[in-house]
Amino acid sequence: MKLEKNKYKFGGADLVSLAEQFGTPLYVYDENTFVSQYKRLTNAFKGVNLKIKYACKALSNQAILKVFKKIGSGLDAVSIQEVQLGLKAGYAPEEILFTPNGVSFEEIKMGVDAGVVINIDNISILEHFGHEYGSKVPCCIRLNPHIMAGGHHHIQTGHIDSKFGISVHQLRHVERIIKTYNIQVTGLHVHTGSEILDSGVFLRAAELMFEAAQQFKDLLFIDFGSGFKVAYKENDVTTDIEELGAELSKRFKQFCKEYGRDLELWFEPGKFLVSEGGILLVKVNTVKQTMATVFAGVDSGQNHLIRPMFYDSYHHIVNISNPEGKPRIYTVVGYICETDTFGWDRKLSEVREGDVLAIMNAGAYGFTMSNNYNSRLRPAEVLIRDAKAELIRRRENLDDLLLTQVDIKI
Ligand SMILES: *Cc1c(COP(=O)(O)O)cnc(C)c1O
Repeated sequence: MKLEKNKYKFGGADLVSLAEQFGTPLYVYDENTFVSQYKRLTNAFKGVNLKIKYACKALSNQAILKVFKKIGSGLDAVSIQEVQLGLKAGYAPEEILFTPNGVSFEEIKMGVDAGVVINIDNISILEHFGHEYGSKVPCCIRLNPHIMAGGHHHIQTGHIDSKFGISVHQLRHVERIIKTYNIQVTGLHVHTGSEILDSGVFLRAAELMFEAAQQFKDLLFIDFGSGFKVAYKENDVTTDIEELGAELSKRFKQFCKEYGRDLELWFEPGKFLVSEGGILLVKVNTVKQTMATVFAGVDSGQNHLIRPMFYDSYHHIVNISNPEGKPRIYTVVGYICETDTFGWDRKLSEVREGDVLAIMNAGAYGFTMSNNYNSRLRPAEVLIRDAKAELIRRRENLDDLLLTQVDIKI
């Protein structure tokens, strides 16, 4: 978002005008930002056979899936429904990695029938898979290297008590099952969590993967998951993609030589690709002075963007209606009957009722985690391409709330 001639622009479009045209609350996405993040990643890993599988749980609108498909990305799907959405958006089955956790074998079977790559994260499922398919259907195995990533404990997935993946300490057991059923393991996968602060952690996980990989003779790829940290605040520490790209590429090439085959290197980022390319526009309903603070109450809440309340995440907030206003301190809150605080004690240019606020970095886990609590309607979504915004999801209405309800006689 840039301030140009006193107007806040995003992807070349004037945000206040978008709020007027489409109403608020409104999710606004910028295609150019998505594409440049994708390119930043692919440029950092020149020289290795890199494949990006966009983790679509971050933002799963069909238009966004098509944007990533067009620029050459594959897809990481965590449910059979995400697989189906990916196929509908035009991805070939073999471009989709299906990485479910805690699902029934029935759902795995649906993935196999759809022809997608199956990522197995549980020993009992692996055994079931071998029994059912033997050597006929290849699979990928999700390992847990027990590397602690930083960040909020809700988003760490690689530690010892995590429900994700098969422990690297259980590899002998895995080996026995693979031998018994002659399972073809074509990929190894690790996803340590959402916030990796330095490339050192990544490289440590990589070493454990390379060590484990020696036990699998049919590998075609190693998937290093995600964990790229993006800046939500000024001066936030972020993953140095270029440094990681240089170091991991070098080490990966060396590993491929040792292994005796040129493997593909996969990543499946969500947040890194779509977080900065999304903004949630909300309108100020009320300004309320209390003894402790001044509340700016907006026409949205935890039902539209739950990250601040669920993960304690910081999202920068800007009053885009009053760029010249005097700076004052506000606490920005939602309209839900819960303590749904978007940000405490934020310096905003003077807020007046009716002003539009921009909540930044809302592209990832914004709309996809939204819900209808308090019987509130979910926002519309627009995508900016060539400085023009197109509606990619209409705003909900009361009929949508009643759509799945069955009217019985009482
Ligand atoms: C959520 C998830 C990702 C994406 O994580 P980000 O932090 O959004 O990059 C990647 N892989 C798997 C298996 C996931 O569950």
